[in-house]
Amino acid sequence: MTVQVQIQHDNFELPKVDNPIYKVHIKSYGCQMNVYDAVRMQELLAPFGYEHTDEYTEADLIVLNTCHIREKADEKVFSDLGRMFKSNRKVRKKDPLIAVGGCVGQAQGKRIMQRAPQVKIVFGPQTYHRLPEYIAKVQRKQKRVVNIDLPKLEKFDALPAQKPQGGTAFLTIQEGCDKFCAFCVVPYTRGAEISRPAKDVLKEAQDLVAQGVKEVTLLGQNVNAYHGVDANNVELDFAELIRRLAQVEGLERIRFTTSHPNNTTAELIDLFRTEPKLMPYFHLPVQSGSNRILQAMNRNHTIEEYMDIVRKLKEIRPDIAMSSDFIVGFPGETEEDFEDTLAVVAEVGYHSAYSFAYSPRPGTPAAALTNQVDEVVKKERLAMLQALITAKQEEYNSQFMGQTLPVLVETETKEEGQLRGRSPHNVPVNFSGNKRLIGEVVNVKIIEVRPNSLVGEIELVD
Ligand code: SF4
Repeated sequence: MTVQVQIQHDNFELPKVDNPIYKVHIKSYGCQMNVYDAVRMQELLAPFGYEHTDEYTEADLIVLNTCHIREKADEKVFSDLGRMFKSNRKVRKKDPLIAVGGCVGQAQGKRIMQRAPQVKIVFGPQTYHRLPEYIAKVQRKQKRVVNIDLPKLEKFDALPAQKPQGGTAFLTIQEGCDKFCAFCVVPYTRGAEISRPAKDVLKEAQDLVAQGVKEVTLLGQNVNAYHGVDANNVELDFAELIRRLAQVEGLERIRFTTSHPNNTTAELIDLFRTEPKLMPYFHLPVQSGSNRILQAMNRNHTIEEYMDIVRKLKEIRPDIAMSSDFIVGFPGETEEDFEDTLAVVAEVGYHSAYSFAYSPRPGTPAAALTNQVDEVVKKERLAMLQALITAKQEEYNSQFMGQTLPVLVETETKEEGQLRGRSPHNVPVNFSGNKRLIGEVVNVKIIEVRPNSLVGEIELVD
């Protein structure tokens, strides 16, 4: 089979329409960044008549927005797309248009085209803004399209304005990574670190506030490595960007994710003291508590340096919600190394953490290491780590029992009359209330603590 490579950027356009005439189903895998990208894709396709459906069997267009982090990610994509294509075709009696985007698309684009003839479009995380153009090209030229370029910043200029719902929104300020941790595919699939200009970020924040947003979560693979320029072409670091964002009138809460310890500057730490709009929540991945393993992972910092950051943050905000990522069973991890990781969890007392058993990613340096840890040992260690994380999380959440917290209401839950929002510490809070409160900050008195959330009652003002 002939596989066409990289599209030429000739002008293929879909006609714009006023009302939805097609259905699109976007299945998103993986990280927060992918969830955000999927929402942007929906917004991008809406003016061309595409309405989102949760039922992939009724979709004219199916987009798999993939993630390459998990084990056997590409096999999962092949199996999903085969199954979805077949069921959709059975119901609709015609072929759906199938597109594969995200990090598996980026890493395996040509292989996908060779192995899955039902896929007509493949693109990566930096080229999804051209999706309407790819669709037009497939429809008009009956050709398959692959675009896995890594253009700098083009995407941000091309995407339409966000349409936020519920008072909170993500705001991408940085993408890509230059750190090359030994286990990670991100530098290969998302490309080198790039930062959006500060004026674009500030403008987007103002636009979001004008649409009712009170809280932004700044997104980036290495968000605190931000180094965009302002309107005078002066480079700003991350702390300065937050200071400028805090001046946006009407913006009440600022969060960010994901950070690297090596980019956690003294100025950033100090902002938790001086900037009330910066919420007391910090996702700071450490991966392992052992210096030996941190070095093998190419993390470029020690556990002492990491704990020093945590200590300084807690001096400023003893209640700060620390969050992290852990990998257990990295090649060469001994029982002692693992105990060092448990010791870090016990000492920090995380409010939340993502933890995984190591599995090799093709093309990364760690995949070639010969001292892989036995699968059974990895499983046991993961179970122990997760049990400790959960116990510490419950301990962390219990400090809020009986307190009244300002909760930004985000959504209704499945239960009738129930709302869910987030406390300043990013803890989900459930309570009864009218859905008119969505997008507002209300005071909620905490009456029950659960491992992953809090339950409360709205406090009425006399
Ligand atoms: S810093 Fe994060 S994104 Fe970059 S290589 Fe390491 S784990 Fe991957």
